[in-house]
Amino acid sequence: MDRNGTLVAVRFQPACTDGHAQPRLGRASRATRSSRRVLIDFHCHLDLYLDPSRVAEEAADAGIGVLSVTTTPSAWPGTSALAQTLPFVRTALGLHPQLAVERRRELDLFNDYLPQARFVGEVGLDGSREHRAGLATQVQVFDSILASCARASGRVLSVHSRGAARDVLDALRRHPDSGTWVLHWFSGSVADLRRAIDMGCWFSVGPAMLRGAKGRMLLGLMPRDRVVLESDGPFAVSDTGSPLEPRQIESALDPTSSVWTVPTDELCDMIRANTSQLVNLS
Ligand SMILES: [Zn+2]
Repeated sequence: MDRNGTLVAVRFQPACTDGHAQPRLGRASRATRSSRRVLIDFHCHLDLYLDPSRVAEEAADAGIGVLSVTTTPSAWPGTSALAQTLPFVRTALGLHPQLAVERRRELDLFNDYLPQARFVGEVGLDGSREHRAGLATQVQVFDSILASCARASGRVLSVHSRGAARDVLDALRRHPDSGTWVLHWFSGSVADLRRAIDMGCWFSVGPAMLRGAKGRMLLGLMPRDRVVLESDGPFAVSDTGSPLEPRQIESALDPTSSVWTVPTDELCDMIRANTSQLVNLS
């Protein structure tokens, strides 16, 4: 994506399609080549890596764009400025549910920056044991964010729902016009998943989620035309325990191919088509 959110992407051949090495295009080549179908890491905390530039450059060389989600509105200026200098990076404006209690005063800042942001995230609710006590405040914050997104219209939201899938879906139901919802690393029940599907939610899945049997089971039930990839790095880690990076999202393709019993090259096309459609919804 370019700075205006338009898709400008490498015409790449991921290793998954034909086993050929991926082209390493120079920056000028990247900017001038375009494709309507790209692969994007749809949930990555790019600003939290030690060297965000290296991470983004290596992703771009692999033909992978990054949606750089933020955890607080006050992080928006710095993180979105970072994206101006890096290839294929877009920034999402967020207020992470785990920070909602201490940063709720930043809602005004969220509203100030929202006109600049076509993507919103990370937002949502966290009902895990450490954060359950603040759930009522989280709901107020999330409701406010969703109401703002409804007023702004046309946003794509990356939504956290750990331990709170039902509450998240209730909130989304209260704000049906708040945008296109992408449930990141969904881990709720099958009933919650079916409800989310009925409500039109999308899903971003990654290598860490698909390492577990439950994650693969949920993936098997997700609509194949509403799934994109994510790393959730640097929080999520690889098999070896190192922080996942956007260039590694392709490692989610093999498990997805197995679960859906779809050949990997066909799967690549499906995921790229989904990604393009989702980006163009914003
Ligand atoms: Zn995250």
